[in-house]
Amino acid sequence: MAGGVHGRPRRNAVSVILVMMGAPGAGKGTQAGLLSHRYGWPKISTGDILREMSKAETPVGRDLRRVQASGQLVSDEILAEIVKERTSREDCRDGYILDGFPRTVTQAELLLELSRQQGRGVIVVNFAIRPERLIERLSRRLSCPGCGEVYSLTVRAPRQPDRCDRCGSELTHRADDEPEAIARRLEVYQAQTEPLIGYFRDRKLLLEMQGEQPVNSLFEELVRNIESRVGRAGEISA
Ligand SMILES: [Zn+2]
Repeated sequence: MAGGVHGRPRRNAVSVILVMMGAPGAGKGTQAGLLSHRYGWPKISTGDILREMSKAETPVGRDLRRVQASGQLVSDEILAEIVKERTSREDCRDGYILDGFPRTVTQAELLLELSRQQGRGVIVVNFAIRPERLIERLSRRLSCPGCGEVYSLTVRAPRQPDRCDRCGSELTHRADDEPEAIARRLEVYQAQTEPLIGYFRDRKLLLEMQGEQPVNSLFEELVRNIESRVGRAGEISA
């Protein structure tokens, strides 16, 4: 293991678990990427891990395929176990960013249990956005039918017009990015996440951000808030 100047591993005074929440299009993906780059915290997406695992010819992979084929959701306990395993790796030592987990209060409880085991503080960032602004943003969104990557013509344009940077497939305008569909999705999203937001707010772990600002000022404000919370080491843990 690489040591610091005095042979001790260099690490932050407190290691953080950052949870990113917000409706699709509210800007959390962009901000997660910027934060990951700034602090070296890996982005852990449970969706990506599950997709990888379910492709593998392993007993777990076969189990996952069976669960998904039957239209069921992977249980909270299995998801928490996957997060625990992934975040026990060396690259997560100084902190990590969670995307897609937790989605339910039960998962949130499992996450706080994990944070206690790992001795880490939790900061939950929720990006708020008004429906009309979201509609404006999402209608400029393109996605890749090949690998699922999402691009935005305003904040994250593909390098080549209409081509995916990752896999080269031709990008499409998502059919569900139509205004009525967006408004409906936002309503569903808010109804589903309200209990989770309340759970974290009650525990003083919630950081509410206005997702409508320009990318750079949002990032600066986010950094200021995160650093002031990390500064109060110990107080941020549940
Ligand atoms: Zn692609």
